[in-house]
Order: sequence, then C-alpha cells, then structure tokens
Amino acid sequence: MTIPAVALRGMTILPGMVAHFDVSREKSMKAVEEAMMGEQDIFIVTQKNIEAEDPQIDDLYRIGIVAKIKQVIKMRNGIIRILVEGERRAELSGIVEQVPYLLAEVLYLEEHRQEYSGEALEGMRRAVLEAYGRYAVLNPKLDKEFMRQASETKETERLMDLIANNMPVYYEEKQKYLESVTIDERYETLIEMILREINIISIKNEFQSKVKEQVDKNQKEYLLREQMKVIREELGEDNTESDVQQFQEALKKLRAKKEVKEKIQKEIDRFANINSNSSESAVARGYIETLLELPWEKKSKDNKDLKHAAKVLDNDHYGLEKVKERMLEFLAVRNLTKKGDSPIICLVGPPGTGKTSIARSVAKALDKEYVRICLGGVRDEAEIRGHRRTYVGAMPGRLAAGLRMAGVKNPLMLLDEIDKVSSDYKGDTSSALLEVLDSEQNNKFRDHYVEIPIDLSEVLFIATANSVQDIPRPLLDRMELIEVTSYTENEKMHIAMEHLLRKQMKKNGLKKDNLSIREEAMAEVIRGYTKEAGVRSLERKIGEICRKSAREIYEDNKKKITVTKKNVSRFLGKEKYTFDMAGKTDEIGIVRGLAWTSVGGDTLEIEVNVMPGKGEFRLTGQLGDVMKESAQAGISYIRSVSKEYKIPKEFFRENDIHIHIPEGAVPKDGPSAGITMATAMLSAITKRKIRADVAMTGEITLRGRVLPIGGLKEKTLAAKNAGIRTICVPAKNEKDMDEISDEIKQGIEIVYAETMKDVLETAFV
Ligand code: ADP
Repeated sequence: MTIPAVALRGMTILPGMVAHFDVSREKSMKAVEEAMMGEQDIFIVTQKNIEAEDPQIDDLYRIGIVAKIKQVIKMRNGIIRILVEGERRAELSGIVEQVPYLLAEVLYLEEHRQEYSGEALEGMRRAVLEAYGRYAVLNPKLDKEFMRQASETKETERLMDLIANNMPVYYEEKQKYLESVTIDERYETLIEMILREINIISIKNEFQSKVKEQVDKNQKEYLLREQMKVIREELGEDNTESDVQQFQEALKKLRAKKEVKEKIQKEIDRFANINSNSSESAVARGYIETLLELPWEKKSKDNKDLKHAAKVLDNDHYGLEKVKERMLEFLAVRNLTKKGDSPIICLVGPPGTGKTSIARSVAKALDKEYVRICLGGVRDEAEIRGHRRTYVGAMPGRLAAGLRMAGVKNPLMLLDEIDKVSSDYKGDTSSALLEVLDSEQNNKFRDHYVEIPIDLSEVLFIATANSVQDIPRPLLDRMELIEVTSYTENEKMHIAMEHLLRKQMKKNGLKKDNLSIREEAMAEVIRGYTKEAGVRSLERKIGEICRKSAREIYEDNKKKITVTKKNVSRFLGKEKYTFDMAGKTDEIGIVRGLAWTSVGGDTLEIEVNVMPGKGEFRLTGQLGDVMKESAQAGISYIRSVSKEYKIPKEFFRENDIHIHIPEGAVPKDGPSAGITMATAMLSAITKRKIRADVAMTGEITLRGRVLPIGGLKEKTLAAKNAGIRTICVPAKNEKDMDEISDEIKQGIEIVYAETMKDVLETAFV
C-alpha cells in the first residue's frame, strides 16, 4: 500500500494516542494536503536523526504508525498545525521517487491476538496494572482520573498502549515500544519501561528528601543567626569580627604543618570577607571549625609497657588466651619497629565473643584514644570519603570525623563489622577502605570535604568481622586474621561470674552484697535461656535479673536477693530452649550431622525416604547449591558400591530418593554434610539402622574418601550439648582436634574416618 507520509522529529506517536504537532517543511505540508484529499490517513514515522532536513529512507525508523488526521489549522506564519490519532503500526518498506512529497510504501503489521489465551492476556493486563500502580504511588502528581480509566480498560493491548502513551519518557523509548510488534514484546518493553521509571523516581525522591532536610536545617540556622545578630548588635558586638579573632587564636595554637596552616589562614581571610548572613558564610565557618579541630600533628604518648598491657587484657577478659597472646606479640613488634607498618589485625568470630571489647581493652592498655567506626550497612562511598563541599550539607567522612573526635593523630580505630560493607550505585566503598588500610597510601588520605591530605599512618586499626567469606577479597589481603571462637558452657560460666555479673550490677545500681546468683542458677540461665556462640544475650539476661532485683530491693526494702535454680523463672519467665537431644532409638534413614553457622555450631538431622517411583532425586529444606552437589556426589558413590551392599541394578531406576533437612529457617550450605547425606541414603536403601548417639561431619568424594572440614570446635561443642556420644570426623582434621581443649572432648568418642567405610562401620548398628 502507498500512503502520504510525514517524518516527525523528536516525537513518536503510538496507537490510540491523540496528539498535535506543527508541520513546516514544504514536503510534509504537501503530504498533509494529499492525505486530506483522500481518506485522511497519513503515515507518521520518526526521524532517527533530528538534524536531517530532507530525510531519506535510511534516516527514518523502520516502524511507524498510520494515523487519522482529525483537524488541520493554518497558522499565521505559513505553518500548519495538525491533530492526529494513531491507529495501526506499519512497516516502512520503501519510498516512491519523483513525487513532490514523501510517498511511503508500507505494510500493516498484523496483530496476533488469537495466539494468546484469555488467561495469558488477563495475566498480562493485571501485571501491567500492578506495576503501574506501584509507579503511581511514587509519583503523586499523577492524574487520579487516568488511573481509574486505566483500571477500567479491559482489553490488554489497549491498556498497554494507554499507559505507554502516558509515560514521561523520551521518544526513543516510545519508538522502542512502537517497534515491539507482538503482544509479548510490547508487554516486556512496557514493564521494563515502568520498572526503570520506578527506580529513577525512587532515587530522585531520596535525593529530594535529603536536600529538603538540609534546607529546613539551614533555614532554621539562618533564623537563629539573624536573631543572634540582632542581639549582638544590641550588645554592641560584631560577630564576624569576634569569630575571626577566635579562629585566629585557635590557629595560632594549632600544631600543624606550614602548608596546612597557610590553607586555614586563607580560609579565615575569605570568611572575614563574606557577608555573615549568607549561607556561604555558614559553610565556610563549618569548614574552618573542622580544619581547626582535626589533629594534624597532635599525638598522645603510648604506654609501651607490655606487662601492663597483659595485665589490662587479663583483667578485662576471661580466657581468649590465644587472642591475647597474639595481641601482645603484635604490640611487641610494633614497639620494636616503631612505626605502624605492621599489618592490620582483624578479629573474626561469632557475635558477642568479645571482639569489640578486647579492642577497647587494647586501647586502654596502650593509653590510646579509642574510636569505633561502625561499617555495618555502609553503602555510600561518601560515608567513608566525605562529601564535596559544593554539596549542601556536606560533611567529612567517618574516618575524618573519627579522627576529629579522637583529637589525636594516633588513636586506636576500630573498624567494626568490616564484612558488612557493601557497594551500590553510589560508588565503591571497599576501594575507599582499601586506601585507608594501605600503609603506602594512607599517609595522604584524601577526604573530599577536608581536601587537605590527612595522615592516617599512625592510626592503629583493628577490624572485626563475623565471617571471613564476606570480607571483600582485596581488604582481606591487607589484614592479619585472629580467630575468636565460640565459648563453651564452662567458659561462659566463668565470664558470667567474673565479669558480666559485676558489670551489670554496677550498671543497675546494685551493691556488692545485694545480689548473688548461685552457680547452678547461672548454669540454668546459660542452658535454658540463651542459645548463642558468644555471651551477648547472656549479659542481657543477667541485666534483666539485676533490674528485677533492684526493684525488689527498692520497693520491698529487701537487703539481699539470692537467685537459685528454683527461683530463676521468677526473674526470667519460663525457660526458652530445651536442647535438641539425641533421639533415643536407632532408626533407618535418619542421620545426625554437625553444622557450622556464623553464630556457632548446631546439629541437624538429615532424613531420607526411598519409595517406588521413576528414579527421581529430590532435596528439600533450605539448602544451598554446594549442598545439593555433595548430595549428588553421595549418590554416585553409593551407586559405585551397590554390589557390595547387594543393591539390585534396577533399584535406582525404579525408586525415588527424597532427602530432607528439617528446621528450614536457617539456610544451610557447604560441603560438610556430604558423608551425612551419603550415610542416610545408604541406610534408607539397605534398610539398616543407624546408631542414634552418633553424629558426623565431612566432605565426600566420588570414590568415598572423606575430606577435611572447618569449624571443628563449634561442631564438637554442639554435639556435646546434644548428648551425642560418638562423632565421626575426617582423619585429616586430627591435628585440629588436638588443639581443642579437653573440656569439650571429654565424654565424646572421636572416630577419625579416612573413607566412607570407616564412617559406615561406626554409624550402622
Ligand atoms: P563482639 O564485638 O564480638 O560482637 P562484644 O565485644 O560486644 O562482642 O561482647 C559482648 C559482651 O560480652 C561485652 O560486654 C563483653 O565485655 C563481654 N565479653 C565477651 N567475651 C568476654 C570475655 N572473654 N570475658 C569477659 N567479658 C566478655
């Protein structure tokens, strides 16, 4: 079909869209005239290149729209304005030459509505409506009437066109939608368009609310300053003068290099010349104050006495021998080498095991200022490096702020939860941190706000983390890890009796002889009310007992309260945890495994069922990919030894195997359940019973070798708490077992397995 055509610049018309535009090019006007003489249909196609005055076929998009001209108005300057309604998509296949206007050869693009089921169309309709609804919520300027109209539109394609028409996007995106020919494609393009808009608007809203907060704050400050100015004038003081004088005096006293002083002097001079009411003046004032308070050359004197340090560490913490020893070695090296070139220490372990508090003790031992910088959830690079001063409400980054708080250039800085930093569209936090930790670079750390390089090389950094895997790799390379492991019940008892109780009593205003907690009662608190690797909730529970006692002492005039095993529940309510004790009877297809999570060890029961079926293999419970793979490896192993166990060949074809790991709330992953799953499967297949008092951990290979695993201490502890008698661990872990204290191993038989054979001999009844 041939049809007069108009090339459109910077605009795309979609089906169902009513729009008007001005036509000024000679050729286009002729095309409109030609169309008006016929059926009033015109082909409208968008130009790829806005600049082309006389567009050829290559300058045009392939797909355009056939529209009906509804109205033509002649304007004064020879231009005509036309009103059109988009009707059907059409593809441009050629241009007829030698005509004074654009005459296009086009092909209508068919709509394949019948290919879709009613459900599919309705599903798409709802999805579009829902996405648009979400968009509308974020964009309150949107017309309510339009939303109503949209939700009443029953026909999916019409709805999609309607919404696409209404999206405030560039014409290129509308063109993309126009070029989506099938309903599927249109649906995808549209949803993508809406989701992108949602994203953009949420980012925009975030920025706006930040700016608004700042403006409100500035407004308030401005008013206060105005008032202050009037008061000062009444009193005959001029404020800028006195501010400048104050700054000058502070600068005189400041210990800093010449360049720094010069820079500050310059800023003060500039400040003196700014109108004191302007917001610029407030910014300059804040900047000068920050510069004057940063410890450029100010240092505190370290206490180098290691004996003193050892004493402080011992006084503050029970146990943790290895950690303390490593800390003292580290300090000795630091003393000898004089400079902070030593690697950065990172304490790794479950929450509540005293990582933060041992760092604080180190600061105390060395007479250092202590600053804690919490990195958990820091996503914005600017939080570390500061905002540029051009930005309203700019601030120095956390490191500069921490240094300002410490007041000296050589404090101990704790980078807490370094495994929890993450990066998003606002920049790369971990590379900023890398610059902080790198001793080659950190004597000239650049904060965007401060601008003058800051020397961090004399700061003693200590980091903490819960799990090594989550620490960004380059950071990990710069740090020396010290592992802090979970506490045994006995250790918890000591910590509670010797440290936590005293601390909490003091906090709650109790005197030494006001409260005593018997050991049996404390054991009950540890066992029945807390379940953790560290002692954080234990400390909270003790705090709760202290609070309740304080009230009784105050209200009932009691002199002394003794907590015994019997009356614990009066303070803490009913006990929360009963230990998941080992099953009493030996069963088929149920094996107890040992697991390590970032909050300590745990036991988990693996169940396997075998039933007639089609040779399928299923895994349920919250499992990770590694775990699924090791289950597969287990199956392969079993198939390879099926002769030995007299499993018929057809067995794997005619039966389904289902593995389940209950208590699915905690996602589990890792290879260490390999031998457990294999044992459970073999037991279910051969119908042989498994001893109920055995637990195991180890990775399995296809040939049935048992490979070593980590977290042995936590796992053994968990086994002991669950009343297990015998544990099966990889033979290669024997040396790690030697390092675990006898308190934990007592009463547990340990079987070192080289291959699955050893495991099965132990586990089968
Ligand atoms: P983390 O930083 O490892 O999460 P914290 O340092 O916050 O743990 O420790 C939680 C609480 O337990 C602190 O009050 C701390 O003093 C106390 N604590 C932990 N371990 C010990 C210990 N070995 N001796 C004495 N107190 C301890």
